[in-house]
Amino acid sequence: MDPNCIFCKIIAGESPSTIVYHDEQVVAFLDIHPAAPVHILIVPRQHIPSINHLTGDHEALLGHMYTVAKQLAIENGVAESGYRLIINSGPDARQAVFHLHLHLLGGREMRYPMG
Ligand code: AMP
Ligand code: ZN
Repeated sequence: MDPNCIFCKIIAGESPSTIVYHDEQVVAFLDIHPAAPVHILIVPRQHIPSINHLTGDHEALLGHMYTVAKQLAIENGVAESGYRLIINSGPDARQAVFHLHLHLLGGREMRYPMG
């Protein structure tokens, strides 16, 4: 745990959040500033700052994050209407929280082209 990381604090129960799913590998909670009717963050319990910090050891964890996202899309009623999964990495992508997280966005038509 990084004591300066807001997502580590949420995972540790030291900061408030609306947790919608958790297991031994990941925690998922509602984004505090939702950008769509459904906006959930899927977060590994392990403090990994960004995609740049991934190693081969994290491959199963990343796959699990996407499987959890798919399940949450079903449970939140957007699996058929559609949804977008996003991981921002670094300044140009405007990553704001340096604890890896997968955004699940749905419930409205997404803008296109992306970016
Ligand atoms: P990113 O730009 O990919 O780093 O996105 C960070 C996301 O975390 C943003 O969508 C924020 O609204 C969200 N966020 C920041 N602090 C909190 C918090 N305490 N609880 C829930 N979501 C948060
Ligand atoms: Zn963290």
